[in-house]
Amino acid sequence: MDMNTGKIELPKQAREFGFFVDGKWVSAGARKLIERRSPAHDVAVTRITRCTVEDLNHAVSVARQAFTDRRWSGLSGTDRAAVLLKAAEGIRARAEELALLETLESGKGISQSRGEVLGAASIYEYAAGAARALHGDTFNNLGDNMLGLVTREPIGVVGLITPWNFPFFILSERVPFILASGCTIVAKPSEVTSATTLVMAEILSDAGLPAGVFNVVTGSGSEIGQAMTEHDDIDMLSFTGSTAVGRRALLASVGNFKKLGLELGGKNPQVVFADADLDEAADGVVFGICFNAGQCCVSGSRLIVEKSVAADFEARIAEKLSRVRVGDPLDPRTQVGAIVTEQQHDTILSYIGKGREEGARLVCGGGPLVTDQGRFVMPTVFSDVTMDMAVAREEIFGPVLTISTFETFDEAMELANDTVYGLAASIWTKNLDKATNAFRRVQAGRVWVNTTIAGGPDLPIGGFKQSGHGRETGIYGVEEYTEVKTVHIALGKRDLWV
Ligand code: NDP
Repeated sequence: MDMNTGKIELPKQAREFGFFVDGKWVSAGARKLIERRSPAHDVAVTRITRCTVEDLNHAVSVARQAFTDRRWSGLSGTDRAAVLLKAAEGIRARAEELALLETLESGKGISQSRGEVLGAASIYEYAAGAARALHGDTFNNLGDNMLGLVTREPIGVVGLITPWNFPFFILSERVPFILASGCTIVAKPSEVTSATTLVMAEILSDAGLPAGVFNVVTGSGSEIGQAMTEHDDIDMLSFTGSTAVGRRALLASVGNFKKLGLELGGKNPQVVFADADLDEAADGVVFGICFNAGQCCVSGSRLIVEKSVAADFEARIAEKLSRVRVGDPLDPRTQVGAIVTEQQHDTILSYIGKGREEGARLVCGGGPLVTDQGRFVMPTVFSDVTMDMAVAREEIFGPVLTISTFETFDEAMELANDTVYGLAASIWTKNLDKATNAFRRVQAGRVWVNTTIAGGPDLPIGGFKQSGHGRETGIYGVEEYTEVKTVHIALGKRDLWV
């Protein structure tokens, strides 16, 4: 580490991983390896195993056995909570290792990775409480001859497919809640960011999670991921990623009617009214598009600003963006790191090209950051954007902000809701009536008022419209992984039918 800047050195060699099934590491053996090169340095940092569909089938049968024999679901909420609390301790003890792996594979800034890892530990602690709080309902109003119960039971074996943008954080918004419910898991992380999921399997095992309850297979999405969506012995699939693959998962679920939790894309509005604190709002808008280099399902990618303040607001954003630090993710001062893959980099640049061709006005950015190595995109702002432009309609998943203007409240709401997505929205105003009317009208699973991309595991997350199905985190996030069972208990003597 550089003692002046805190900058971390690249590891000397790539770390090799097997996969984790039935409480043990399985080495790659004759299977192929997938090498991951750091998107910021183009250096090999990890090698993971390309599992086969047979490996997946084995992992599912192990998870099925672990579910059926009740080694986990049969424990009390208190006992499950104890394991989750120990896992939180394990995450904290290995925080620096996890953060470094996350940064090396994903390209996000090390300070952000550190924050996400510690945030994840706190999610396990919340979920430990939820494991104890989970309960059903009673109906004691059915008369003296009948008692009604509604019990919640774990749904069974859960397949978990997670993306590359928040590999550890998104995993941690799912796993402790699924475990709190009593289910067992087979996880498949993105092939470009599998390391922290694999380390988590070891942490959970060390925390006392029984063998076979959390299993990880690694490999390609189109092969192993697709096989998971089609698998007849997976009871529920939690998928986070693109709407296109989410749609495939929906089609594949018909085989065994598996339940789906889908968290998909977003094209999230930032609605700024003239009476907002414009400086704070500009700071929020800049954070909302730069966070994780815009590779974030809840990025505030569409600024919808009241016309009377639009020019002033645009200037504030451009000025703030000129001070955002883009660059080496191993430097703790970096705010915007590298773009995860060549493909994602090309996609973002092609959208920037489209914005120009469609006649949007470029305010700042507009291309890659020129460096010796790695892939970076300068935060880019397009103004005079209309809703027929691709840059306003399609999820870019990069640091690209569009600006459109409105004159009336109704017009603002129409623009905000003019999208197939409904994941998140932010409203900026100091007027309480306006804020309340706006959060009631906007179609999104998460709404922020005078802030953006904020909050913890206590509240549920998920999307309206084509942004998904179901909710993760909060007590809703545990209930999501349960089936509801209705029980009628007859009391006293039966009124005979025959
Ligand atoms: P994908 O939807 O392809 O990837 C997300 C996850 O799904 C990864 O684990 C991937 O594995 C897996 N996967 C890929 N194909 C299949 C399949 N046929 N069946 C089951 N699982 C599969 O997203 P991309 O990585 O291609 O990114 C494309 C776009 O998706 C982005 O530009 C962005 O718009 C959106 N996206 C949204 C995310 C969100 O958080 N809502 C997260 C990531 C992407 P593997 O990586 O190994 O192929």
